[in-house]
Amino acid sequence: MSDGKWWDLPWNTATGCDKCSPACDNCWVKRQLHWLKHPAEHKVILHPEKLDLPKKNKKPTRYFVCNRSDWMHPDIPDSFILKMLAVMVECPQHTFFTLTKRPERLEDVVALDASAENLWIGVTAWDQDSFLESCHSLGSVVNAGFHTFFSFEPLLAPIDVVSARSIWNYRPDWIVVGGENGPGARPMEPEWVYKVKLDCEELDIPFWFKQWGTATEKIISKREGNYRLPKALPRQRPEGG
Ligand code: SF4
Repeated sequence: MSDGKWWDLPWNTATGCDKCSPACDNCWVKRQLHWLKHPAEHKVILHPEKLDLPKKNKKPTRYFVCNRSDWMHPDIPDSFILKMLAVMVECPQHTFFTLTKRPERLEDVVALDASAENLWIGVTAWDQDSFLESCHSLGSVVNAGFHTFFSFEPLLAPIDVVSARSIWNYRPDWIVVGGENGPGARPMEPEWVYKVKLDCEELDIPFWFKQWGTATEKIISKREGNYRLPKALPRQRPEGG
């Protein structure tokens, strides 16, 4: 696993997406599809031929599901998501990570009455409001028995993780933090990252720092100080956690 990368292989059963939040403004997926003149630049394309790929891989692998889309995009039908979940159940040797900026649909997935113990459901939050909103959506996911995590990438404003303790009846299994990359990247203040790290320590949540992002790297290269931060791999959810 390379530095900052927490998954081994993508599992792109769907490609293409639409912007749905301020965090999407510099989406690298849209940029890549545009450069490639890929038809998925303008619509979500399903790839049913890729559904069975994890079944052919016997080596335990961390898959990032739909890293060129958002698996909760409205153009990916429930029936297709059910097929993906069925593959996950058939592949206990692997771990599947998903991320979405559309957490409101997660409740529909829970209602599908599917379960996959090797599925980690993540939500992206970029500021305090999006964090608090996603806390509620993840709650239903936890109650259905899935592992959960937050990705604060790109982190665009401070997030007070401890502030959510009063609305949680669960503890997320993991928090990832990262800055934005590429043209137009917006800066992430180091103090925001340290606050999340301290909150994770207080709440006993594993913390993974991915990278500063291009804009922040330029800023901190001119400052004094040591900005190295720890990584913590996801753990299995504790008994009763
Ligand atoms: S949800 Fe993700 S993939 Fe879709 S436009 Fe936003 S950043 Fe890009």
